[in-house]
Amino acid sequence: MKIVVLKFGGTSVGTIKKIKKVAEIITDYKKKNYKVIVVSSAMSGVTNELIKKSKEISNNFCDTEHDVLVSSGEQVACSLIAGRLIHKGYKSRSWLSWQVPILTTGAYKNSRINKINKNKIIKFLDQGGIPIITGFQGINNENRITTIGRGGSDASAIMVAKFFKAKRCIIYTDVEGVYTTDPNKLKKAKKIRIISYEEMLEMASLGAKVMQPVSIQDARLNRIDIEVKSSFKKKSGTLITKRSNIFNNKIVTGISSTQNDSKVSLIGVKDKPGVAAAIFKPLSKNLINVDMVVQNISANGQETDLTFTIKTEDLNKTKKIIHHNNSINYRKLLFEKGVSKISIIGVGMITTPGVTFRMFQTLGNKKINIKVISTSEIKISVLIDKKDTQKALIALHKEFKLSQKK
Ligand code: ADP
Ligand code: ASP
Ligand code: MG
Repeated sequence: MKIVVLKFGGTSVGTIKKIKKVAEIITDYKKKNYKVIVVSSAMSGVTNELIKKSKEISNNFCDTEHDVLVSSGEQVACSLIAGRLIHKGYKSRSWLSWQVPILTTGAYKNSRINKINKNKIIKFLDQGGIPIITGFQGINNENRITTIGRGGSDASAIMVAKFFKAKRCIIYTDVEGVYTTDPNKLKKAKKIRIISYEEMLEMASLGAKVMQPVSIQDARLNRIDIEVKSSFKKKSGTLITKRSNIFNNKIVTGISSTQNDSKVSLIGVKDKPGVAAAIFKPLSKNLINVDMVVQNISANGQETDLTFTIKTEDLNKTKKIIHHNNSINYRKLLFEKGVSKISIIGVGMITTPGVTFRMFQTLGNKKINIKVISTSEIKISVLIDKKDTQKALIALHKEFKLSQKK
């Protein structure tokens, strides 16, 4: 019998009414003779609330307890789903990650799933049961609860699909699929019928919250096709798959944007080997994620300016680290809050010249100033004022004809 993995996100299980709806989706697959494994996230808002509580208890809340606390929302959602299925006459039960067990490696708050023990779940499936497994959490080799990063239930579902060799892995969420850009930010955004892992990975890493980036990496490595669908509307969604399955002639597939970025500039740092490493080493040690980096060409061969971006929530920590870094010299340190990164993504860029020019011209025509640029083979990102984000999104969406029917 075929196994299907169904993952439900926070908004899909956000209320009792929605959980009842989710139970119907699950039983529909059961009636179609699938062996159904469900992975659920916490009810929407719950994880944020738990994180808030931890901060109220201590501004330095211990990582091990953090994971025990914030993973608890998934337990609630899974038992409610299982309870509803039992109410409907089905055999079901919740499985917490330690009961499966789902094994993880790496640091607390940001672990990775490396193994899932199949035996108990397989036995339960063979008895006709519907297991409801907690997303987002696992246990490590010290038998302690871990979590796998915000939005991590997506990655839990992909790893469950991998270990159980599922025929299908469906991510149920509050939108109908992956869109050309966030449909909650731009009404004209269009649903993408099929998208490659590479493009989805870039879109997700650059701000498209609909899928968590790690989950796409795992799916790509293990060649697992992902379907993204709505929990509320019976409509076809988006298929995330390998590039060779896709035929189209689009140049740009989607646009992502981030908020709450900050820019840091060190003016007049010595232009000699090892300086950049001396700046970034303590930042990386403190788990500060440095994103875009640019270094000016030195005019006199003596000094240069270095600019990089970070999340605004890391700004105070970054300031402290740089001020206390005795191994670097600079003339001035500048910070700018309220910047935003906007990126266009598409494998079509590889073979199409002039995309960079079109992006810059479009922004220029709208009098939007570009502060930092970074590119890869399939994406171009620019840093702009946060207040210009929506204007830039609308203009670029139009320029690359993303609202048109494909
Ligand atoms: P879930 O609770 O199901 O995990 P998320 O909130 O994590 O859902 O992700 C769904 C949200 O992702 C949507 O409500 C939408 O606002 C946002 N989103 C951002 N970019 C995109 C995009 N390109 N396509 C679809 N949704 C997007
Ligand atoms: N509940 C977790 C979070 O809010 C995991 C998830 O939603 O996927 O980050
Ligand atoms: Mg999510």
